Amino acid sequence: MKGIIAAAAMTVLGTAQVSAENIEIRRNGHSPSVAGKADNFSGHAVISPLLPPNDSTRANLGQVDFAPGSRTVWHTHPAGQLLFVTAGKGWVQEEGKARQEINPGDVVWIPATVRHWHGATATSPMSHLAMTYMVDGKNVEWQEPVTEEHYR
Ligand code: MN
Repeated sequence: MKGIIAAAAMTVLGTAQVSAENIEIRRNGHSPSVAGKADNFSGHAVISPLLPPNDSTRANLGQVDFAPGSRTVWHTHPAGQLLFVTAGKGWVQEEGKARQEINPGDVVWIPATVRHWHGATATSPMSHLAMTYMVDGKNVEWQEPVTEEHYR
């Protein structure tokens, strides 16, 4: 009898925790890729949503593929952003500092509220994964474009 009650309790517990305890595989292409909005990106960038925030990460994961010359506008993140470069050659710049080249395998941490931009170089495409931490449902504050003069 004791064993049956214990088994029943475990079943209920198991059901309640399914979504939190099971490994979830989001198959390649599960969410449609979209073109980066002209307000937020210069040139041609494609955004592929990979994973929405959840209680554990409180961060959004996405892939961004920048065509040569494409980059974000100036922006900040309320709780920071992790970039992991997966292909090509890109640039990242913190306001007031020199632009830096980034390459596949490079990991870039952008602290909260630091004004910056990232994108491809003028002659190469660049792809990165971006994990962007949420605060009150927001993870970015978009600002003005990086002028062509400044970019080059
Ligand atoms: Mn950023």
